Amino acid sequence: MQYDLIIRNGMIVDGSGMARYRADVGVAAGRIATIGKIREQAPEVIDAEGHIVAPGFIDAHTHMDAQVFWDPIGTCSCWHGVTSVVMGNCGFTLAPCAEKDKLLVMRNLERAEDIAPEAMEAGIKWSWETFRQYLDAVERAPKGINYASQIGHSALRTYVMGERAFTDEATPDDLEAMKRELRDAIRAGAIGFTTSRTRNHQTPDHKPVASRLANWDEVRQLVGVVGELNAGVFEIAGEDTGLNPERINDYLGRLKALAVDSGAPVTFGMFGNRKAPDYWRHYYKLADEAAAAGGRMFVQMLAKIAGVVLSFETHLPFDRLPVWREFRKLPLAEQEARLRDPEMRRKLIAAAHEPPQEDRRPVGPEARIMSYRHTFLMDRTLPPFHSIAEIAEEQGKDPVEVIIDTALDKHLKQFFFQTIGNDDLEMVLDMMRHPRAVPTFTDSGAHVSQLMDASMHSFVLSYWVRERQAFTLEEAIRMMTFVPASHWDLGRRGLLREGWAADIAIFDPERIMPLLPELAYDLPAGARRLKQKSTGILATVVNGQVLMRNGEHTGALPGKLLRNRLAASGAN
Ligand SMILES: [Zn+2]
Repeated sequence: MQYDLIIRNGMIVDGSGMARYRADVGVAAGRIATIGKIREQAPEVIDAEGHIVAPGFIDAHTHMDAQVFWDPIGTCSCWHGVTSVVMGNCGFTLAPCAEKDKLLVMRNLERAEDIAPEAMEAGIKWSWETFRQYLDAVERAPKGINYASQIGHSALRTYVMGERAFTDEATPDDLEAMKRELRDAIRAGAIGFTTSRTRNHQTPDHKPVASRLANWDEVRQLVGVVGELNAGVFEIAGEDTGLNPERINDYLGRLKALAVDSGAPVTFGMFGNRKAPDYWRHYYKLADEAAAAGGRMFVQMLAKIAGVVLSFETHLPFDRLPVWREFRKLPLAEQEARLRDPEMRRKLIAAAHEPPQEDRRPVGPEARIMSYRHTFLMDRTLPPFHSIAEIAEEQGKDPVEVIIDTALDKHLKQFFFQTIGNDDLEMVLDMMRHPRAVPTFTDSGAHVSQLMDASMHSFVLSYWVRERQAFTLEEAIRMMTFVPASHWDLGRRGLLREGWAADIAIFDPERIMPLLPELAYDLPAGARRLKQKSTGILATVVNGQVLMRNGEHTGALPGKLLRNRLAASGAN
């Protein structure tokens, strides 16, 4: 046997949940050729002694639709063992859309997902109109990891209805046109259809994104197309039912009927909420009930605390207060100098305690009015974290002073995070243990200066497996490989098996861990974003080539566009 790559002496955790065993892995022509004792040589050999050899991780909830064109290796996901991502979630895609209308779809993405329009303008060469053409553009683009895409309702609606998409109900003709383009997108390989109905998704001028103007019948008819073709999932950023039992029942009833009637697998993300500790249970129960009634449904969860990252370099919740607003316009070095001036400090601290005069509620992960009990110093990446309120009590200081002083200690390069969901890790654990849960929902590629959840996969292995021993390594790997690969039907990925794609993560189970984030101005047009790497990952392999070694890109670009079963089998 002629191998391109041999991974020797590692412990195989194959993604199925089966107990680990020691073996070599031989790779040829992008696929796993042999798992066993390999005596041959190969041009490239990795010694994985003391390491786990697992399938590469799959993140099914990302927004890398724009980023894929300027960042082929898929940071920050690629730094945490991820080898395949699914994009096009929550109704947001860059297609279908003609270049002349690109500002309309970029408007959907800009505020809802915090992707700078300058970065999109500078970083994307628009070469498509239909979704089919967009997939071809992604296929042609150089890629480090694998990308699969769903088609987004906001783009689809805007394509068919233009400006009316932001104000009107669809006419029967509009709906027929949407169905036609959706059908073609799925035949071309889209792995799902997605929408958003949450008020967290707004455009920069405080208007709902296009998909939120759709009535439920429009959603039903479009999901019907997915079911008809029997390929792809339906993902929804759900309705804001609040805690009103009638609205919850109404929405969940419609969602269940949709799953049963259409036959399309239905999925959505869910955070734990400390104010309503049992809220999430309704949705998991719904998934069980849908299955009992003959539908398919599964729940995406984030296996960590969801927090907005704050810092003087990015956003602070005080930024819109009058005194702070002026102060925050100063260059960072000047802010630092002035923060050392007692008079200025007094003014800022007093202003931070003034009652909020919010002109509007924050949407999605925008910084919120401070709750110092739920704002934490980011001096470590694994719990327990220390809240600003706790530190203030310990040091006998004002909490705002704690923020200023800890930031000054690091020349304003100190990050904090404010929880917006999943604050209770025991609740997160209950969710993770549900058989219809999938740990994903990182929003990687979006919220680039607000959130840093692309580190979820290394967090699961360091915190839930190593520190808490809440799952065996075998169980945790299965949840991040075989399970998402099966739900999104990624064809012969997500397990280490002879003949399957050679997407592999090799890591040290005693050392793997996310590192602290940092800020970089490295997006196209110099736009800023948070970056977070990890430690303990020896290498990741994508389609048989080594993509990352000790956290550094090797230069290889082996990633592929993953199309759905219909397109892959040539039936398109
Ligand atoms: Zn999303």
